[in-house]
Amino acid sequence: MKTIQAYRFALDLTPGQERDVFAHAGAARVAHNWALARVKAVMDQRTAERSYGVAEQLLTPSLSWSLAGLRKAWNQAKPDMAPWWGEVSKEAFNTGLDALARGLKNWAGSRSGKRAGRPVGFPRFKSRRRTTPSVRFTTGAIRVEPDRMHVVLPRLGRLKLHESARKLARRLEAGTARIMSATVRRDGGRWHVSFTVGVERAERAPARPSSVVGVDVGILHLAVLSTGELIDNPRHLVAAQQRMRALGRALSRKTGPDRRTGQRASKRWERAAARLGRAHARVANLRRDGLHKLTTRLAAEHGTVVVEDLNVTGMLANRRLARHIADAGFAEIRRQLAYKTAWNGGRLLVADRWYPSSKTCSGCGTVKAKLALSEREYACEACGLIIDRDRNAALNLAALAAEFDTAGSGPVAGRGADQKTRIRGQVAVKRQPGTAPAGQTGTVPPQGRTTNRVLAKAH
Ligand SMILES: [Zn+2]
Repeated sequence: MKTIQAYRFALDLTPGQERDVFAHAGAARVAHNWALARVKAVMDQRTAERSYGVAEQLLTPSLSWSLAGLRKAWNQAKPDMAPWWGEVSKEAFNTGLDALARGLKNWAGSRSGKRAGRPVGFPRFKSRRRTTPSVRFTTGAIRVEPDRMHVVLPRLGRLKLHESARKLARRLEAGTARIMSATVRRDGGRWHVSFTVGVERAERAPARPSSVVGVDVGILHLAVLSTGELIDNPRHLVAAQQRMRALGRALSRKTGPDRRTGQRASKRWERAAARLGRAHARVANLRRDGLHKLTTRLAAEHGTVVVEDLNVTGMLANRRLARHIADAGFAEIRRQLAYKTAWNGGRLLVADRWYPSSKTCSGCGTVKAKLALSEREYACEACGLIIDRDRNAALNLAALAAEFDTAGSGPVAGRGADQKTRIRGQVAVKRQPGTAPAGQTGTVPPQGRTTNRVLAKAH
């Protein structure tokens, strides 16, 4: 089974290496901004010409938006635009042009309706202050050194890792992995290198292929399983969140930048902002770690995992819930389960977002009209069942798998499944384009495209 995976490691760069990476990231930005300005100028020119009634075939020729086209234009312009171009790897310019080509393609696709999901805006210029510095290498000498504590990248040379790359190195040595690209970027105040790797994975089967588990992703806890097991949030997460909030308040007391008045940020503000950024990264890391442990275990053990398809975008509008939901990482848990069940030979079923998993009685199937978020216990008026709210939801999700199997409906593809006026009782499977790569790995193509998204039978 061929998959594409990301391996991400923290780096310990020397000041000289840090300067080199910044130079490459800056070069990526220069190429991106130059090409974007060109694209815009040509578009504006053509619009103007059209308004004067110039015939379509006489208009200024439009610029190719493909990476190859942008690269060709840049290579002609670079001796003038960037006389220093020889000092950095050509991959640096490629990084910027590739980002622009993707941005333009997404914008065009979104505008013409070819691309599902949120509307995508026109690419914007990258500023030095606000852009995450990053550079991506796709060719040349990219390797992990035998000591597994260093990597070699073109131009940047030998970089020290902060942690051992043994997991990747083992696969490379066994010949079951091939590095496709390496991206160096700074996030959370740290430098990381992220390898996009084509991996040949052994076929596996879940430990209990016929086992079904319903997972209710929680707010108070990471998740509650239909088995009755309660998975707590990762240790230290609460402490890390408290520290993050305190740092946020400290930051707000200092003089920040103000674009209207031209006020520059104070040194204290900048230091506090860096501290806050690191705290954010720590919270994100802890959370991701907890989710990975949970999803790995679920996918290895159970043949079928059932989760809810929560409308995260809609719920984030509710501000009180917003942080908790973002924290619990609903979307992330689904994304991880999607590819991990596929790797393990299991399957993931996603319940319709309108399926009343919380309001349905897992004992008798009665659906309550209302259930306040504050009600932690589910008490059924019909059969007298009293059960923990989340456990009840998890049981209902697990029961859906049986219904899905007996319904005998094969997967029905289609984006139309997103519409809100869905017929009740419909069973369908929808496929969505991959979401943005989570986990800040940057270059990883979306995974889990083949998840079964069950629009389960509503009661
Ligand atoms: Zn009941």
